[in-house]
Amino acid sequence: MENQYLVELAQKYGTPLYVYDADKIASQIKRLNDAFTGVNLKLKYATKALSNISVLKWIKKHGAGLDVVSIQEAYLGLKAGFDPKDILYTPNCVSIDEIIEAVDLGLTINIDNISILEQFGHRYKNTVPCCVRLNPHIMAGGNTKISTGHIDSKFGISILQMRHLLRVIETYNIHVIGLHIHTGSDILNPEAFLRGTEIIFEVAEDFSDLEFIDFGSGFKVAYKEEDVTTDIEMLGKELSKSFKNFCKARGKELELWFEPGKFIVSEAGYFLSKVNVIKTTPATVFVGLDTGMNHLLRPMMYDAYHTIENISNPSATQRVYTVVGYICETDTFGTDRKLSEVRERDIIAIKNAGAYGFSMASNYNSRYRPAEVLVHDGTDQLVRKRESLDDLLRNQIIVDFE
Ligand SMILES: *Cc1c(COP(=O)(O)O)cnc(C)c1O
Repeated sequence: MENQYLVELAQKYGTPLYVYDADKIASQIKRLNDAFTGVNLKLKYATKALSNISVLKWIKKHGAGLDVVSIQEAYLGLKAGFDPKDILYTPNCVSIDEIIEAVDLGLTINIDNISILEQFGHRYKNTVPCCVRLNPHIMAGGNTKISTGHIDSKFGISILQMRHLLRVIETYNIHVIGLHIHTGSDILNPEAFLRGTEIIFEVAEDFSDLEFIDFGSGFKVAYKEEDVTTDIEMLGKELSKSFKNFCKARGKELELWFEPGKFIVSEAGYFLSKVNVIKTTPATVFVGLDTGMNHLLRPMMYDAYHTIENISNPSATQRVYTVVGYICETDTFGTDRKLSEVRERDIIAIKNAGAYGFSMASNYNSRYRPAEVLVHDGTDQLVRKRESLDDLLRNQIIVDFE
């Protein structure tokens, strides 16, 4: 999006502000669909990346289903108009009660541990189909907090426990229609995926009722210009080929599922804030923003790099700044960044903020969460109001000590 337009949006709606480019979301979905040929590809957008209902509706309009990790995300998806069957429910460490609720809603159920699978089988036998999440123990992911496939990970049923898993399925006559792996976010190269697929093709021989295989996600996007990203086209070509062979050998056309979050929405998002203060210290020059890690946690939580630009003074001389938030603990967005000269009240854009931006925002320091704007079909539309004091007080019950 053009800097000038973003500055206008910041003025129109105020800051801090999340802005999403709907066209970019649509083109990312298209890019995935185009990369896979001759296979029955189904995309299940990972809701947790960005769960604004208008965004979900836009994603539905472009043909994707949803992957949800909580019953609450499922309710958001239903509110957005998704068919329950097109919502894959992939929770971790939830109680059987929540799974029963998901079954009652008609979601597609993905189970990731043997204890719950036994309870599920005991209750439903073969009357409710399910998918099982396997852990193929592929070490991948850019950060241990988001690596989910390694041996010590809490996610999935280990392929080393396959005999136990098969015994449970047989005992209760469970109707397993899908196999799922998700090896973590930020996977650097398609090799990890392709290794995972080989493992799962082998394992699939023990499951006769399969209708789909879900390869999870982890597609990387470029946060820095020189970042290596997942070669989607190469992955699509290779995996389409091996998947077709797999289906042919099985004598059945299965669906190939992916559940990307970041890939679909990250680059569509801009996080806009205003410079409150320029603070020169003996060591550095700080740019202090009217936001903080409460609104964009990734830099502090994952050491994530986000491109930062001064969009209201773009052609000035470049200087070096450390860009920080207003939270009362260290909350740095970027250290020693080159920005065109920053003045108080300038508008700063943080890029790649669509995924895990607003969805991880909190009220820490009792700050209001930002507004969100969706730009689609040439118009900008407010899709979430900025919070107010009423939102902070909403569920509080105030004790009268008189
Ligand atoms: C978080 C998550 C995803 C999405 O990961 P991205 O890196 O955002 O693409 C997909 N599937 C599951 C089960 C997840 O937990």
